[in-house]
Amino acid sequence: MHQVRTTCPYCGVGCGVVADIADGIMTSVDGDREHPANFGRLCVKGSALHETLGEPGRLTRPRVDGREVDWDAALDTVAERLTATRQAHGDEAVAAYLSGQLLTEDYYVANKLFKGFLGTPHLDTNSRLCMASAVAGYKRSFGADAVPSNYEDLEEAELVVLVGSNLAWNHPVIYQRLRTAKARNPLMRVVVIDPRVTDSCEIADLYLGLAPGSDARLFNGLLAFMADKGRLDRVYLEGHADGLDEALAAAREGDASVEAVAAAREGDASVEAVAIDCDLDPEALQTFYYWFASQLHVVTLYSQGINQSSSGTDKCNAIINCHLAGGKIGLPGAGPFSITGQPNAMGGREVGGLANQLAAHMDYDTPGALDRVTRFWATESLTPTLPEGPGHKAVALFEAIERGEVQALWVMATNPAVSLPEANRVRAALAKCPLVIVSECMANTDLIAYADIVLPASSWSEKDGTVTNSERCISRQRGMLPPPGEARHDWWIISQVAKRLGYGEAFDYSHPAEIFDEHARLSGFENDAAARGKGFRLFDISGLAGLDRDGYDALAPIQWPVNAAAPKGTARLFEDGRFATPSGRARLLPVRPRGPAQALDDTRPLRLNTGRVRDQWHTMTRTGRAPRLMNHRAEPFIEVHPEDALAAGLGDQQLARLSGADGDYLGRVRLAKGQRRGEVFVPMHWTDQFSKRARMGGLLSAHLDPFSGQPESKHGAVALDPL
Ligand code: SF4
Repeated sequence: MHQVRTTCPYCGVGCGVVADIADGIMTSVDGDREHPANFGRLCVKGSALHETLGEPGRLTRPRVDGREVDWDAALDTVAERLTATRQAHGDEAVAAYLSGQLLTEDYYVANKLFKGFLGTPHLDTNSRLCMASAVAGYKRSFGADAVPSNYEDLEEAELVVLVGSNLAWNHPVIYQRLRTAKARNPLMRVVVIDPRVTDSCEIADLYLGLAPGSDARLFNGLLAFMADKGRLDRVYLEGHADGLDEALAAAREGDASVEAVAAAREGDASVEAVAIDCDLDPEALQTFYYWFASQLHVVTLYSQGINQSSSGTDKCNAIINCHLAGGKIGLPGAGPFSITGQPNAMGGREVGGLANQLAAHMDYDTPGALDRVTRFWATESLTPTLPEGPGHKAVALFEAIERGEVQALWVMATNPAVSLPEANRVRAALAKCPLVIVSECMANTDLIAYADIVLPASSWSEKDGTVTNSERCISRQRGMLPPPGEARHDWWIISQVAKRLGYGEAFDYSHPAEIFDEHARLSGFENDAAARGKGFRLFDISGLAGLDRDGYDALAPIQWPVNAAAPKGTARLFEDGRFATPSGRARLLPVRPRGPAQALDDTRPLRLNTGRVRDQWHTMTRTGRAPRLMNHRAEPFIEVHPEDALAAGLGDQQLARLSGADGDYLGRVRLAKGQRRGEVFVPMHWTDQFSKRARMGGLLSAHLDPFSGQPESKHGAVALDPL
């Protein structure tokens, strides 16, 4: 038996895992005591990783038009059909849709091929559904997509605010760390702000069950409260941030949109007015405001409950405003902290995996970016050149397919036929798309039914690469088992297609270590902190360039930036009060709260909330294979307040139907007193493979945040009826 250190492939905590391998089989897993994310802990999903492996159900041979073929035939066909599409319809008729499940090296090569060599900007990722609003919020405030805080800050804080995050279920190891820290520090307080009472409330000193979508009003009210009580940090603001007056003016305007009230209290930012708009007890709200205003060491941790909204970016900025106004940032135990859903949502951002990015955390309008990337990739003589502007973001990409503008789509490691809003419309678009290529580990997914070409990909425990977790920590995933059948690594598949398209020299990789080295060099290429405001970007891992295979294999977890100034990485950002804006100063943003875009009416009177369950991951292709994980929630369900169930003529455990914008969902009623009246909750995991009639995506309309393009997955409108 031998042991291999690797990283968990599920959530954005990014726990280190030690796997035991005997006779070519993973027999058990344990938490890695040396990994700084988890120090030996694992949650139930992580501890069952070895129970989810094995060849049954895996995709093992390439297929073209329904026939199994060898790799040469499959790769030749991909190259020929992509070329034919470009010749007939132009470069921008081809697109890619990637995933936060991919390793950074896979992401890098895909981004380089599509944006750098095929000349199409239309490459986006399912991370758009996860943290795009957090990215946009950071950029607007800090000038860079940069998470300031880290996990230790949560343990060092005196006040931890969880907003739109059921940490106990979705990031369990961080929840365990927080619970332990709270037990050690009797002065630590935890506030949970969430429309639902969740397991995270077990450690809450205060729970605020606010009206769905009223978060921006709540934090605007906090900003006004801090100003009124003389709790602004004027010294910090003067030295490091602009925009207070505009942000405060907007915060005092009130809210004309919160659905909990009939009339707006415009111009009233008193605690009482905010409490009415947020449907909260004013005393409880005031308690929170006092705690936040009087404490320096505050971490506000937010997740999809904030991001998955048509005003998600504004909500992020309303939170960040309060931290900047109080100087609660860049200190141990202080800062805003978005936590990602997926294991490598952050790594995708690093290489340019979002359609609005070019590469290496550069946007298209980053000064000098196009020229810099062109020279680094040596694409000067190519036709086409690099695209000059952003491509379609996730939902818009499938609308472009629907319109016939995008004619060829390559999907890697994700299932948009399930996860996107208006999932049935997405399926119709896929059905009419002339070329759909799917790189996938599993033989049977809802998406594969729409694929012309299916490429078997290697999976966790089979592939080598890196991932970056929610605290900017880069960790190695290590291959230790052979891929089944003819499955291949994603970076290899993409590179082989690139060679067939005539770009062999630029994609001549033989190992992911070479890709990581190139990625690290690009991050530091002409990236001089002395030139802030002229294309400088915070993301810089040039200190990790030049690793040979042994060095890459031994790479220990490290937080970016890693460069000459910070060779051992950077635990916390903005400690010097300098930000990545041209002026070096942070920005407070004026935020005008907007309620959910998906309107309730007589036909769909209930507010729909969606999310994960504790023991499942995404579409259950892996976690669904472990019986003990299925035991937690064995079938699709609908959480309903008892009085709403009664009004609908439903009882506990009865089968019911939810009807939404683009389809319906059948599930068993679970009566939940922690559910607000008028709101229901459904899990996101079930697909056609498990239950033909429990796809969450069909319940949601495609309403998007105007800055981030992130869909409003937390605020659907549905009707509930007995089956
Ligand atoms: Fe894996 Fe997340 Fe659980 Fe850690 S907390 S073991 S990363 S699922």
